[in-house]
Amino acid sequence: MVYTTFGNTGVKVSALGFGAMRLPMREEDGKKIVDDELAVPLMRQAFDLGVNYVDSAPLYCEKLSEASVGKALKGYRDKVYLSTKNPIEDNDGDHWMGRLEKSLKNLDTDYIDFYHFWGIGLNSFKSWQGLKYGPLEAAHKAKDQGMIRHISFSYHDSPENFKPIVDSGHFESILVQYNMLDRSNEENIAYAKSKGLGVVVMGPVGGGRLGAPSDKILGLLKNKPASTAEMALRFVLANENINIALSGMSDINMVKENAEIASRTGHLTEDEMRHIKAMMEENKDLAKLYCTGCDYCKPCPQNINISYLFEIMNRHRVYGLTEHAKSAYNEVINGWSWIKSADASKCISCGACETKCPQKLPIMKQLQETHATLAP
Ligand code: SF4
Ligand code: SF4
Repeated sequence: MVYTTFGNTGVKVSALGFGAMRLPMREEDGKKIVDDELAVPLMRQAFDLGVNYVDSAPLYCEKLSEASVGKALKGYRDKVYLSTKNPIEDNDGDHWMGRLEKSLKNLDTDYIDFYHFWGIGLNSFKSWQGLKYGPLEAAHKAKDQGMIRHISFSYHDSPENFKPIVDSGHFESILVQYNMLDRSNEENIAYAKSKGLGVVVMGPVGGGRLGAPSDKILGLLKNKPASTAEMALRFVLANENINIALSGMSDINMVKENAEIASRTGHLTEDEMRHIKAMMEENKDLAKLYCTGCDYCKPCPQNINISYLFEIMNRHRVYGLTEHAKSAYNEVINGWSWIKSADASKCISCGACETKCPQKLPIMKQLQETHATLAP
């Protein structure tokens, strides 16, 4: 396993982190619960292979991830850095502290190494500054009292709102989305590193999108990697501004494969990196030719989420992620995805969308193609 120094915290962290958001689950009394008989050894196998950072959150795995992580950490607590998150629900410091205490109890521990303000944006952050005993003051108090070792944040706001949060000086590490398909935080990652913050990225395989096979993506390298997922992980690990790639691992083979990849160095040469980035930019431009995602075409009387269906179609058409695109389409039209849409064949050709589309896209025709290509 490769280790790097985590910003100014001085701690050495493994290149691969265990994301405890896809732990093995089972049914009990009609309820989904974490299968600890599988999940605990799975996490411990990762720790034994050198992974020393595990990331949980109160809502992961039907709210049972923290408890399972707490069990896995028994006997490993002094070897593994523990990260979890506070879903800031209001501006009250006591409430913030209450949520921290609940996490400590779930995790059955008396301290958290990296405690995140969960999914914050600039507006909410600004609203806490200067508050008398708001979330920020509570976090510093928790740190002074040893309940947390480091204050961190995870980020889902637009890239241009990122720097003021780093510059505030409250935080020691960040957790952001980054992968081959979504490099929007690349500059922010470099900035955070330059300011002495540790950098963790989530979604290195694009939330599963890059886990699906794609000859187009594999073809970007002369020496083809074994899988698209390997290529995606190597792309993230090759970025020297990143300390940890968090992977939501749910089986032992994934743990072994990812640990093996994270134990290598020299993931990509500079030329390879440049080539991949250039090709991915070209692909992105190509995707925009099909649909920019502006949503001016909404609403559709048939509740077809046009931009989302086209985005799924692009995963097939532009990136060659056909298998993945088919399963994503199936999920959305069956109502299993949190993003809702009727299936593309429900279009009644009223034409309302096409008159509003600034790209002048033949939406009705493209919807037919989407359904013909991706429907089961
Ligand atoms: S043409 Fe089809 S997709 Fe467009 S608004 Fe009408 S029903 Fe919806
Ligand atoms: S208006 Fe056109 S470009 Fe914009 S989301 Fe709809 S189809 Fe895509």
